[in-house]
Amino acid sequence: MPALDACALCAKRLARDSDVFMYRGDTPFCSKECRHEQLQLDAVSARQAARRLQRFSAGAESGRAHHGVSVSS
Ligand SMILES: [Zn+2]
Repeated sequence: MPALDACALCAKRLARDSDVFMYRGDTPFCSKECRHEQLQLDAVSARQAARRLQRFSAGAESGRAHHGVSVSS
């Protein structure tokens, strides 16, 4: 379970009254940059997972493409 008081990427403490950038509903980041970085990492691993999947079961489409990205303005 992720702690909600620190950035999930750089582990910087998040003040209660400061802006927190949520990702997938429950993963907090201190900045758009950190969230974007995590998003990129996820995109890469998702592509790699899809590639692995295709290698073993050709044409099988997984439902893992549905990432809920909530953007707090
Ligand atoms: Zn951060």
